[in-house]
Amino acid sequence: MAHMKNYTPPVGDEIILMKMGEMVLKGLNRHHFEDRLMSNARRRLQRYGKFRIYSRQSITYVEPQSLDCDMDGAFETLKNLFGVVGLSRAKACDKTPEAILETAKTYLYDDLMEAETFKVESKRSDKSFPMSSIQLSQFVGGELDEAFEHLRADMHTPDVVVHVEVRDFAAYVHANTTPGAGGLPVGVGGRAVSLLSGGIDSPVASWMMAKRGLALEMVHFFSYPYTSPEAKDKVLELARLITPWCGRMTVHVVPFTEIQEELRRSCPESLFTLLMRRFMMRISEQVALRVGAHALVTGESLGQVASQTMEAMGVTNAVCTLPVFRPVIGMDKEEIIRIARKINTFETSILPYEDCCTVFTPRHPKTRPSMEEILEAESNLDMDALIQRAMDGIERVTVEWE
Ligand code: ATP
Ligand code: MG
Repeated sequence: MAHMKNYTPPVGDEIILMKMGEMVLKGLNRHHFEDRLMSNARRRLQRYGKFRIYSRQSITYVEPQSLDCDMDGAFETLKNLFGVVGLSRAKACDKTPEAILETAKTYLYDDLMEAETFKVESKRSDKSFPMSSIQLSQFVGGELDEAFEHLRADMHTPDVVVHVEVRDFAAYVHANTTPGAGGLPVGVGGRAVSLLSGGIDSPVASWMMAKRGLALEMVHFFSYPYTSPEAKDKVLELARLITPWCGRMTVHVVPFTEIQEELRRSCPESLFTLLMRRFMMRISEQVALRVGAHALVTGESLGQVASQTMEAMGVTNAVCTLPVFRPVIGMDKEEIIRIARKINTFETSILPYEDCCTVFTPRHPKTRPSMEEILEAESNLDMDALIQRAMDGIERVTVEWE
């Protein structure tokens, strides 16, 4: 690799290879995607030691630069890196056919014992290596076939592929890849503000949009003393639980008590939830403008509650000019819960702390509100002042993985 200046070979005998996902298809944007993936990986890996990270032909190489790098920790954290479809640990050995074969036999012993069929695929970036890629594959394949009696070569659908890569400073051997988190690198699609409640749906919705490449900031509406400090901690914990995928995040905690009390005092009870949701959307949009975000995200699911009928959503949506992404809109609760379990937010979401929405739930909420009655109800309010005071009272909390 003569084109790599100042290259420091990895230390130790293992490296990590990551295969990039659909971004490979994105033509000219590819470098932008790769750079984002690498900087996200760099940030995630800081706590696991000093690594060198670079990309070649849709593979990103993660190479330890000192012996105290935590390879297990690094591998675990990279499994959650959006933009990676598969990853594997590869073992280094001397650049001789014999050493490569020996490494395949020992390092991949378990994989080879479990498989019935296999094939060998070799790549050679060191063109001075005495065998061609095909010769090397034939040599290693032939020897493995003999050494493992139960194994059969299969070029089309092998159980295990033995990958051999001969590079400048060493040869590397690895087997099948572990599935990655998929999606697009966080941040590549820009920034959005996600409305995070203490429920099941909004953490899932946030995770889904981060998976599509959005960097998120969270907004949470907090109604102290109607809701307890524990309810707020629960929301911060939910945000923290998705940081392994989303990265470090800011949670904007908005004081919402005054607005709720004002609504209860001066507006029809049946419209309470909708008027409140409209305030949430207006304030979230202002936060978005402040932080350079270009969309909002909510955990709404069509028909799930009275404020999530099509007509009700028309009324809440009308106050926003930014696009509002609702990734769980067409999902059943069961489907949402399945994801919540997968991303480890479910158990926290079901902790029994009240949410600001449940504090003043109308007995008979309107499911088919008209815009006229909504505007009529809002005409009693000093909208700008209420919003301004809420904005002024925002507390920003940074959450990150420990
Ligand atoms: P979730 O499970 O996400 O709480 P939900 O089914 O309980 O959703 P609602 O309470 O009607 O539905 O809220 C709909 C959406 O509005 C939530 O998914 C969330 O995006 C946003 N939201 C509701 N309450 C709050 C809050 N206190 N702070 C921030 N966003 C909120
Ligand atoms: Mg809720």
